[in-house]
Parts: sequence; structure tokens; C-alpha cells
Amino acid sequence: MAELGIGLRVSTPLPLQRRETREAGPLSAGKPRAIVPGVFLVGGPEMTDPADCLVYAVDGGSEIALIDCGAGKSVAGILGNLKRAGLDPARLKTVILTHCHVDHIGGLPGILKLCSPRLVCHRGDADAIETADDSRTAASWYGLRLPPIRVDLVLEGEDEILRVGEVDLRCVHTPGHTPGSISLVLETAGGRVLFGQDIHGPFLREFGSDLEQWAGSMRRLLALEPDVLCEGHFGVFRPWEEVRRFIMGHLRQHGFA
Ligand SMILES: [Zn+2]
Ligand SMILES: [Zn+2]
Repeated sequence: MAELGIGLRVSTPLPLQRRETREAGPLSAGKPRAIVPGVFLVGGPEMTDPADCLVYAVDGGSEIALIDCGAGKSVAGILGNLKRAGLDPARLKTVILTHCHVDHIGGLPGILKLCSPRLVCHRGDADAIETADDSRTAASWYGLRLPPIRVDLVLEGEDEILRVGEVDLRCVHTPGHTPGSISLVLETAGGRVLFGQDIHGPFLREFGSDLEQWAGSMRRLLALEPDVLCEGHFGVFRPWEEVRRFIMGHLRQHGFA
């Protein structure tokens, strides 16, 4: 079942989010939520700011990683939620950018004023972030402005391990929505967790989207048989059969299944 209803009760148009979002009950405003041991939801449209993607935190013991960081207005809320989840923001050493869209990276300038995590993204989207490309980052859609931001670690490969404290995050290149989209896999006591931000699309020429590549990426993710899917706008899916249903549904929608 989709556990988190990420309704679109917002006043501004958010073209990267879909209208068919599931409505499985609203999140408690502001409150962080444990997904599995060591993984927390700390930001999102109904939690921190309507423009935010869902923001996840991974507790690696001596270090914390954020997976994306929202659109920008909610940095204090996201860091506050880390604290509320028992994660000291002083341990925030890594922000992984799953792709270059502003609803996922807009929090960077605010975070960098308060702490200095390394920023990680894939080569395919690094340029858009480092040049603050207005159309590839979708900043203009959101009426937001992004400064150019230097990425510290640019992933070049198709499948790489990123160490966060005492845990390994597997970074899988999953192009399609954007050329440099990545998905992350974490083995936890609560099962294999897949962070697949925006694997649902949308697919637009100005994003550099490629549906054929995307279908290949989705097959790659299906082969991993994750127990939990943490998606960027649709919420959290489990068990594996629900993850499969979600991805297969999107593949069907685009004529690939
Ligand atoms: Zn996106
Ligand atoms: Zn998004």
C-alpha cells in the first residue's frame, strides 16, 4: 500500500507533480517519520513546504545523508525534522542530489549557509546544477531562482557505492526523467530500500528526458526487487509487490509493458 498520501492541496501549479497522486491520508504537518530503522522522511509538500519533493534522511551512524533537500524555503524545517528524529544536523555530511530539478536541490543554498556537507550528483546532471540552468533545473516553472552550485563528488559510473558513516549507499544511474537521474539502494534491517525520486517522470524535452532510457532504468530497478520504494512525490510503497505494481503501472502507461 502507498502509506503516505501526498495530496496536492497547494495553490501554485507544480507541473512536476502529478494529479493522480494517491490520497491515503494526510501526513501530520511537520512531523518526521521513520520508514525503516535508520531511514526517515524529513520533508515534503505536506510536511515542510508545498513545493518540496519528499526528502529522506539516512542515518549512517557517525554521519547522516540527506537524499534531496526540497525547493528552498524549508531548510529550517528539514533540519528541525532531523533533530526531531534524533539526528543531530551537525552529523549531516552528505547531500545526495538524485537529479537537478529545483524541487530537489533548491534547499542547497540555505543548507550551505548552515553546514558544509559534500554534495553528490551524477555527471549527467552536474552541469545543470553547476550552471544553474534555468530550464533543465525547472526553476522557472516554480518561479524560483537558483545560484550556480559546485558539486563536490560527481558520480561517473553506472553503479557505485557511496559510504555514509558506517553504511553503504548503492548509487544506480537511472537516466530517463533527466540524463543524470540516480536511484539509491540501502540494505537495512527493515529490508532493501530503494530511493527512486521522480522515477514516475514527467518526461520533457527541456529536461533532456529519454523514455527508452527510462524504461531500461525501470527494468534495472525491478531486477533489484526492493522491499520498500521511497518515491519523490508519490510516497512510500511496500512490500515488493506494491513497488512492482507502481513501477509496472508507469511502464504500462508509456507503452513498455
Ligand atoms: Zn524531477
Ligand atoms: Zn520532483
